[in-house]
Amino acid sequence: HVDFLLVGGGLASAVAAQTLRAEGAAGSILILCAEDVPPYHHPPLSKHLLTGTEGEARIFVHPESFYGEHDIELALDARVVGVDTAQQIVTTAGGEEIGYGQLLIATGATPKLLTVPGASLPGVFSLRRKTDADAIRMAIPQAKHAVVLGGSFLGMEIAMSLVDAGLKVTIIEQGPVLLRHLEAPDLSRYFERYAEGRGATVILNDTAAALNGRERVEEVETVAGRHVPCDLVVVSIGVAPATDFLAGSSIALDGGYVVVDALLRTSAPNVFAAGDVTTFYDPVFARRRHIEHWDNAVKQGRLAARNMMGRRLRYDEVSYFFCEVGDIGFNVLGATEEADAWVARGALDQGSFALFYLKGDVPRALFSVGRPADETRVAEGLIRHRVGLGDVKDRLGESAFVL
Ligand code: FAD
Repeated sequence: HVDFLLVGGGLASAVAAQTLRAEGAAGSILILCAEDVPPYHHPPLSKHLLTGTEGEARIFVHPESFYGEHDIELALDARVVGVDTAQQIVTTAGGEEIGYGQLLIATGATPKLLTVPGASLPGVFSLRRKTDADAIRMAIPQAKHAVVLGGSFLGMEIAMSLVDAGLKVTIIEQGPVLLRHLEAPDLSRYFERYAEGRGATVILNDTAAALNGRERVEEVETVAGRHVPCDLVVVSIGVAPATDFLAGSSIALDGGYVVVDALLRTSAPNVFAAGDVTTFYDPVFARRRHIEHWDNAVKQGRLAARNMMGRRLRYDEVSYFFCEVGDIGFNVLGATEEADAWVARGALDQGSFALFYLKGDVPRALFSVGRPADETRVAEGLIRHRVGLGDVKDRLGESAFVL
């Protein structure tokens, strides 16, 4: 029996375990992790770690000694295959049954698979785990022409990293624009020009119909009839929550995501969830959301841990993520899909740019590159409290927030 059982050895679990100890939890803590490495940060996997320009030493959430020092047991290669919420028992793939007092589900997400012929040919990869990044990095020296399927945040990061590694890169995106979730066609076009300027080829409104090759992948055949020669393919077409093991449990899912309430409790007693795996109510936007970003996993992991200790804290954060497409690092606050007007300041070319997404005159999101922290803080407050820009100018004065 374990007092605090954390399923999924990723970011949210690692932060939750740290928080439990920092807040004085006295009981036993066990993290069950399907992988054979301690919890690590994923963002470097598509950036410096992919090109090998940065070693892996800094990717781990905590140094290995942290777990022992804080009396946190970390079980690697321990995949959970079932949860019995009535008996409060978790079963691992090895057949072990572990009773729990409080349970955290933080199993993250897994890449959606391509279902076309040839999708499992050697040379075809997806990127979620460290082992995926290691495999791609090993394949790069033998490769000349890479295709990245999917032009969203992760796909674009990967594509530009492969460009940096010296490969000829083709990005194939099924939608009409890259980075569709930015919900700003001008920004999407900017990134398209940027990718092309760096030597990548961008194909829009098309997708893979088959991956062809004898022993390894040799070309991507597209629905529109293109034949794109390649020796390396990275499929980045989105993720699905890693919740197969909850099928048949009493824990409520919605579209595969674990449904949590404002306190990050699931439908089962003493079971919480955090990170990519959850669908949660976002009070800032007054609707349910699922967010597959680093900041959300950290904050939910922290809050779930506190509530597992009997506190009653509500999750109430302005969503945030960062992304690095080549040498353009950007930040996004809030929900980009709710705007009906956009106001820009600065210039992307000059490395200082902010795009405010407005609904009426109320900011709902901010895309920014190289902007002062003050501006971001003000914008966060406006988004959170739904303050119109007219009100702010009156209160803070023109200089504090000029559009
Ligand atoms: P994870 O970190 O995925 O951890 C889940 C863990 O659970 C994994 O170790 C998994 O193996 C394990 N697991 C799964 N099933 C089981 C099971 N049945 N039993 C036991 N263990 C299990 N976000 C940003 O904001 N900015 C970025 O630039 C960015 N870059 C990224 C780059 C890459 C390549 C990837 C993959 C993600 C990136 N993200 C980024 C997203 C961010 O990393 C995730 O949102 C975050 O890792 C989610 O944390 P988590 O703890 O919910 O899930």
